Order: sequence, then structure tokens, then C-alpha cells
Amino acid sequence: MSAALRGDSHRPANEAEIREWASLPDARLIALARSVADSVHGKEVLLRGLIEVTNECGMDCLYCGIRRSNGEVERYRLSDEAVAATVEAGLAAGFRTFVLQGGESENLRGDGLLKLTEAARKAAGADSAITLSFGIRSRREYEELRAAGADRYLMRFETADPELHRYLRNGMTLRRRLEALEDLRAAGFQLGSGFMTGLPGETGETLIANIVLAAELDLDMGGVGPFIPHPKTPLADASGGTIELAIRATALLRLALPACHIPATTAAGTLHPEGRERMLEAGANVLMPNITPVGAKKNYLLYPGKICLDESGFQCVGCLSVRALGRGLTLSWNRGDAVGLRKRGTVGVIAAGAPG
Ligand code: SAH
Ligand code: SF4
Repeated sequence: MSAALRGDSHRPANEAEIREWASLPDARLIALARSVADSVHGKEVLLRGLIEVTNECGMDCLYCGIRRSNGEVERYRLSDEAVAATVEAGLAAGFRTFVLQGGESENLRGDGLLKLTEAARKAAGADSAITLSFGIRSRREYEELRAAGADRYLMRFETADPELHRYLRNGMTLRRRLEALEDLRAAGFQLGSGFMTGLPGETGETLIANIVLAAELDLDMGGVGPFIPHPKTPLADASGGTIELAIRATALLRLALPACHIPATTAAGTLHPEGRERMLEAGANVLMPNITPVGAKKNYLLYPGKICLDESGFQCVGCLSVRALGRGLTLSWNRGDAVGLRKRGTVGVIAAGAPG
């Protein structure tokens, strides 16, 4: 059964449906996923401007190139002014969503991230969306960031396997990650999460569990990235994910969450020259040009070989447009809020004011 034939084409899928799709051969699965993306999102690909604010991180995730223990990283943190200037340049170029991402830096504790969010909100004006991605924080901090004008938050659960999660995130538990995602939802954020594919120790069941968890979380935004081993991490000798697996995961995510905004990720573009196009073909509907100032970009290496390090993300838009067009898709500058956001809001209002 295809999501489009389920009657309610926006409803997250259940496990039985996900298992059925997971048994399909690649070509059939991908075609089905693209047809669902077409019916819900049309032929448009939303653009988001990505700003990598800092590579300072107090965490030690085994897979990540900027983990605390990698002493060879040249650490940086963009000033609030530099982030604001980048947002202003992005606004002038046409972007209406800015994604601020970084490590869990001590320098962003206290009111550091709050001040940064306020500066970005001021620069972005009232009509653009601000997305944050700075890992786990307290519910109170999330509430403050929301009040300061952040609209969305991205935090992947990385893997739905609790044992693997604890091992790969150096003792941090999946349960804590999920609590933080709940806190974000409660604070009123549009919620993004997702996972990597091809992590060492994964099985076919891990992929099913990842998709089931994404559907249960009813994500507004969902990212899939192939794991790419970084030479200066404990996982240097792991084999990493294949592009085929990342594409299958993207298609399954699209079928499980028809309304979700799904990026064609840079990691896929790094692993294969047409990785992003293939993700679009499998139902992705977002591209995130990296508009971080070029001087900082080369130091934000979560994995090796990252593409487009020497050019500004503003130059990338032309290239991405050609890539999308090659798959029959066009780029969109709309801010692209969560599908059903207004509906959810309205339901709340109606429920609150409903008689009896
Ligand atoms: N510190 C924040 C955000 C930055 S990391 C956080 O951890 O949530 C952003 C994402 O990069 C992570 O969620 C992870 O899925 C991805 N990532 C890290 N190392 C990677 C690698 N070696 N290969 C592919 N993706 C990686
Ligand atoms: Fe830090 Fe995120 Fe990398 Fe983990 S994945 S080490 S939290 S930047």
C-alpha cells in the first residue's frame, strides 16, 4: 500500500507499513517515495542557508571529526556580529530560512546561545525562520531560545538502537536524547531529527527501528546522512555507509512521513557526486547550501572530504539549481514551515475554546 493510497496522505506510517515498504526493490521503493513527495510537496525544493557557528564541542561522539578529543582541529567560533552579517547577506540573496548549527560549546552555555539567537533574529527580520542545531539543553533553555525568536530545532537521534547509541555517543543515552526532543516539542519548536546510515554495528533491523522512531516522533523535518569515517576518530577504520543504503533510508522516511521536510544531505553529496540528486529522486525536498564564511568552513569537518569548501554557499545556489532541474525539480525560496503547522495551531485553539 502506498502512502498516497492510505486515505490520509499526511499521517505517519505504522511499523507494518514500514516493513512492507522495506521489502520493495530499490527502483519501486524510490519511485513510490518520489510520487508521495510530488503529491504533498510538488516539484519544489526548499532552500535553507546553513551557518556553521562553531566547531568547539564538549562532547566526544565516536563518529564525529570535531569531537572534543580530536586535538588536531583548529577551533573557531563565529562572533554574533559575523553570524548576523551572514544572515543579512543570506537575506539579500533570497534565503528565508537560516540554520545555525554547531558543537556543544562551553562558550554557548549560559546566555551565549540566547544572545546569538537574538542577534540572528534581529538580522533575519520578522519574515524569515531561524533553525537551531546545538544539541541537548535543558527544557528551560529551549523555552528561552523559542521566546528569543528561534522557530525550529534540529537534533538527530542518530540511531534508534539504545546500546549502539550509548556506545557511539560515548555514554550519552538514547533516552536522554528523546527527552530533549520532547522538551523541544513542548517548547513549541518545529521539530527536526534523523539518523545516520551505515554505522558500525547496525543491522537491517536498525534501519526499520530508525524509520519507526522517526514516524512515532511525527517529525516536521527529518535528515538522513551516510556515516563517513573520519581518520582522527576511534571509528577511522569502520567501513561507513553506502550511498544505496542512504537512498533507501530517504525513500522509507518519505513514505513513513509524507509531510516531513527531508533534506538531500551534504554527506550524501560527499559520498557520491550525484548523492544529493539521488536523494531528491527518492523523495527529499530540501537543499541546504552552506553559507558559512569560507574561512571557517574548512574547520567544520564532521567527516572528511566535505564538498564545496572553497566556495561560498551563495555560489552553490546556481549549481544546485542545475542539479534539481536535472531531476525535473525547481528551487524555492519560500520559508517552508512545517506542513500542517497552522492546522496544528488551529486544532489547539479550537480545542481550548470548544464548548463542553
Ligand atoms: N552538535 C550537534 C550538531 C552538529 S553535528 C549535534 O550533535 O546534534 C550534526 C550531525 O552531523 C550529527 O547529528 C551527525 O548525524 C552528523 N555527523 C557527525 N559525524 C558524522 C560522520 N562522521 N559522518 C556523517 N555524519 C556525521
Ligand atoms: Fe559534538 Fe555534535 Fe560532533 Fe557529537 S556530533 S561531537 S555533539 S558536534
